[in-house]
Amino acid sequence: MEVRAYQINFFNNKPFDTYEIGSVEKYGYPGLRVYRKVLIKALLAKCVEKNIEIIFGKKFTRILSESEAGVTWEFEYGTVGQAASLVGTDGIHSRVRSYPHPDIEPKFMNVMAIGATIPTNRVTLPEKYALPVTIMSKNHGAYILAPNFPDGSELVIVKQRRVEEHDREGWKDLLADKEGSDDFLRRGVEYFPDIVRQAISAVTQESVSIWPFYQVPKMDKWTSKGGRVSILGDAAHAIPPSSGQGANQVFEDAYTYALMRGQCDGASLDFVLAKWQRGRQEQIDRLIVLAQQMNVRRFPELAQNGINNEVFGTEDFNMEWLFKPNLDKLVQEWLAA
Ligand SMILES: Cc1cc2nc3c(=O)[nH]c(=O)nc-3n(C[C@H](O)[C@H](O)[C@H](O)COP(=O)(O)OP(=O)(O)OC[C@H]3O[C@@H](n4cnc5c(N)ncnc54)[C@H](O)[C@@H]3O)c2cc1C
Repeated sequence: MEVRAYQINFFNNKPFDTYEIGSVEKYGYPGLRVYRKVLIKALLAKCVEKNIEIIFGKKFTRILSESEAGVTWEFEYGTVGQAASLVGTDGIHSRVRSYPHPDIEPKFMNVMAIGATIPTNRVTLPEKYALPVTIMSKNHGAYILAPNFPDGSELVIVKQRRVEEHDREGWKDLLADKEGSDDFLRRGVEYFPDIVRQAISAVTQESVSIWPFYQVPKMDKWTSKGGRVSILGDAAHAIPPSSGQGANQVFEDAYTYALMRGQCDGASLDFVLAKWQRGRQEQIDRLIVLAQQMNVRRFPELAQNGINNEVFGTEDFNMEWLFKPNLDKLVQEWLAA
């Protein structure tokens, strides 16, 4: 089965663009939408099966020292950790990142997503209606509808909003303002087809969530000078979420890091891990372009001449590089480079 996301131009109510988000025939798996807690539970079960110990309740605060033999760091409340290498996978506001890059801060992308979940049975879907779908209006933005759970019994409805950067207090107020977000979600819905109107009328304020989009600026290195401290995942390259790839890229980072780190002796750490970062950055750069292409689809007004197939909607996304990467082969190429 192939899973495709559909873009519908409500101007003439015709689909004008689709893109793959998985294909059993081509890539070996369909598109997957998985709740974070479900994924974490599955990963924890795998760790138990493989006797990998996880220690909870420790908060990294700072690196104490890095030497040719390893690295020593401090946890909150003064306890100390020590290892041959430390990998910071501590998210977009990474504390580990401040060791190699004290001045790097995530940058707000002036976009946020407002979303809500509803029971799918509150919407009458036309027969054989393909989901997920983005329904676009020339002047009123776009709604994304996507099914959750294996049986599709929950539907998420999302609309993106352009917004200026706020200070800490401003963000606190904006994120707490469920009424304002609910209002934004409903604004202009009369210009959209029945399924959007039905979905919006089923939204309750409690189910509304807000997601500001941040990006971590590109860094020349994801590894400290001595090679003993690295960052990966959002800590290294949080990207705009429009491509839905943030979580997947952490797995690719971790897998390739482990393969490359296994090839290093103490002296070659810095040199080899620089190759890892270069290889991974290429993938991230392609994803940033993909996210921009997606964003244009979700902000029709961004396209210079309004809804028009000549302007956007005709790119042929070739997704082999994304959905079926041969990571072992890539690592061999990076090592040989
Ligand atoms: C609302 C929302 C929706 C999203 N939807 C999608 C989606 O649909 N698809 C997708 O692919 N991605 C999505 N993302 C992005 C995705 O969640 C991230 O790209 C991904 O989780 C990054 O993984 P990570 O391991 O790098 O960081 P995180 O998942 O952020 O994990 C960081 C971990 O480090 C811990 N930590 C932080 N600081 C410290 C410290 N000092 N000491 C010890 N531990 C620490 C945190 O508690 C956390 O457990 C979404 C993100 C958000 C916010």
